[in-house]
Formats: sequence, C-alpha cells, structure tokens
Amino acid sequence: MADKKFPSLWIETGDDGKTCVVMSGTYGPETHLPFVTPAEDLVAAAEIDYTAYRLEIQRLYEEHPLFEPKLDISVSELEDLAAEALLLPSMLQEIDPLSFFELGNLLDQVLRMQDDGSATFLLQAGHRLLQVLELPIRTQIRLRNIMEMTFDGMERATQQERFEKLRGVYPKIAEFCDPARLDGYESVILPLPVDTIYQLRLVELMIYFRQEKQRIARCDCCWNYFIPKTKARALYCDRIFDGQSCKKRGANLKRRKGPEQDDALKLFKQLRDRMYARMLRYQDAPENQRDCLIPMTPMQYDEWETNARQARREYMAGKIKAEEFLRRIDTTHELTSYETVKQELPPEESFWQKRVAVDLDFDPEWKYPASFMVLDLSKPTDNPQWQYFTREDLIQKDQDGHQSLLDQYKKNQEPVSD
Ligand SMILES: [Zn+2]
Repeated sequence: MADKKFPSLWIETGDDGKTCVVMSGTYGPETHLPFVTPAEDLVAAAEIDYTAYRLEIQRLYEEHPLFEPKLDISVSELEDLAAEALLLPSMLQEIDPLSFFELGNLLDQVLRMQDDGSATFLLQAGHRLLQVLELPIRTQIRLRNIMEMTFDGMERATQQERFEKLRGVYPKIAEFCDPARLDGYESVILPLPVDTIYQLRLVELMIYFRQEKQRIARCDCCWNYFIPKTKARALYCDRIFDGQSCKKRGANLKRRKGPEQDDALKLFKQLRDRMYARMLRYQDAPENQRDCLIPMTPMQYDEWETNARQARREYMAGKIKAEEFLRRIDTTHELTSYETVKQELPPEESFWQKRVAVDLDFDPEWKYPASFMVLDLSKPTDNPQWQYFTREDLIQKDQDGHQSLLDQYKKNQEPVSD
C-alpha cells in the first residue's frame, strides 16, 4: 500500500458492490463510515439538509463587523470571526460526518496562513474562512446538477445511456467518471485515495456506472432521487411526507391531472402550449439570437392553430380517428408515432435545465432573487398594478411544468383524498 498522507480520505471495497469511506486525521484512530453502495451514498449525499447551516454562514457575511464597509480592520475582528466560524462545522457532525472532517482540516490550513497584518489580508482571510465553510454546500450543488442532468427522465435508460447523457452535458466530468477507467482493476482491492469530497462523489459515480444492479431514478412526486427495488418501471419513491407515501400521493395527484381528457386531447393541448411558448420565445429574442431558436412567427402560430382547431373539431365530432387527428396537428413532427395515443410528448428542455447544463455550479438560491416586483403593463390601463413574484414563482416559470407533482399542485392546495 502506498504511503498515506495525513489527513486523508479513501474508499475501500467490500462485498456485493458496497464501498466504505475511511477518514484518517492527523491524530486518533481511522473512522470507517458504514458500507453502502455508491448509488445509495450518492442519493443520500444529494439530500443532506444544509438549510440551517447555510443560514448561519449567511448571517456571518451580513452581520459580522469584519465585513462592514470601513477603512480599518482590527486583528481581533478576524479572531472573533474565526472563533465563530470554527463552531459551525459541529452543526454537520451528525448529518454529514465527511464534511465535518474535511472542514476541520481546511479551516486549520486557512488559520495557519501567514499574516502580513494589513487590512486587505484580514478581509481576505475572513472571506476565505467563509468560502471554506461553504464548500459542502457547493459540492452538493454540483452533485445535484450532475444528477439532474444524468438521472432526470432516464428511469428506463441503460447505464450506458445515462453515462452518455452526462457526457453530452458535462464532458469533463464524464471523462473523470468514465467507468472504462476501471478496466482491468476489477480484482484489485481498493483503497482508492481521494483529495476532496467532490472527487469522492465522482469516483462513486464511476463505480456506479460500472454496475447494472442498481439504478438511480427521480421520483415524479417529490423530485428526490431513489433506487427502484425491481426492474419494473418506477415512478415514485418510498418516502413518506405528512403521513402519506409518494406512491400513494403521486398516484392521486396524477389522477387529478385530468383523467377525463383522452390522451389525444392532452397531446393537442401540450402541442399548442409548446407552439405558443416557441412563438413568444422567438418574438422576444434579439434578432441576432434567433438563429438558435426554432422559428415561429405569430403568423405561423396562427396558421398552426387554425389548422389544429379544425382538426380538433372533426375529431370531437367523430369524423376522424385519433391517429389522423394527431397526424394533422403535428405539423412539426414532434411525436414519435401516431399508432397509439398512449404516449407523452417527449419533454422539451426547460429554461431551467438549459441553465443547469451550462453551469455546473448553478445554485437557485443565488441565481434567483428572493422576491421580484414588476409593473404589469401587459394590459392597457390608467392604473397599472405592481406584480409580486417570489423566488418559487420565478423558478416555476423557468421550469415550465417540468416539476415534481408536489410543486405542480402547491399553487392550488386542496386536501388530497385517499
Ligand atoms: Zn418521492
């Protein structure tokens, strides 16, 4: 075994595709976390709740005297910030022992940096301290973005297809996680050292892609990730919120989505929404950016709608069958077949997904303001009203219907009957 650096992290392999993370500090015994599969560990890591911890860091940024705009900063202010900062990792000791371990080492490094006594140094040291504290949050944001791009809507896919999806969106990460890198190492027993928790997650992804026994899917109801127990199609996880399982609530919510509508009419409505959204996007885009959009002028939209309405009337009157109805409204060839109406319109990437794809560090807390007001000038009136949007409203708009069932129904909350 190669010489181990201290402090360090490494992965050991066990039976049944399970692995275990070992933490080894400068002093004291090594700590072995429980044996789990990489899929289980990734799902759990994406879900750690940092809300309270994050608020404490924010409080330091906003309220600590070191960050107040002023000419001079005293050493005691940095010392005071450091004392407060050193207390925060203990909030993670239970829920995230790995980050607790990593933060201990990193904070130690920051505090040992050479002090030149200048105000700039003190301020920078303060920022560095808080940036280190933010590391677990930033690691989780990256992991969640990778998972969204790789596992969302991929429940029926193969491991190879999931990996290809990841490669299409974040090629550099896929290069690191390429399961082919483990070729020839099957029989070798790791320990595999990793430098950071982020690197550990990527190694887990690599080992995950290598196996077929477990797959990671996204629950339609709560939008969390889970590992389906059988090979059968799985839409919902087993989590229980407010005493009701996602399986039960998800099925209930889906039924309310309009069971009376027949599938062809549902597709008609989806197509119409899509064409309309395309028209708005095309209209709003600056001239030089229109090249990358699907063209849809208001005139083209009108033409499409007139034609589609006529087809709909004939379908409703029983003059044409569902198959012909779909063929006539699908002038842009979005549907994969007209044989069966039991199909969903393949999802078009939402604006949200586009943002995640171009920015691995995409963090909704940063990218959307907590609230937002605009003067509603959409209708001619002498007394325009202010419209108020919350962060959730803005996110909902960008997600464009691609959301958990729970979020889709948050707006019109009625008790869900069993
Ligand atoms: Zn769920």
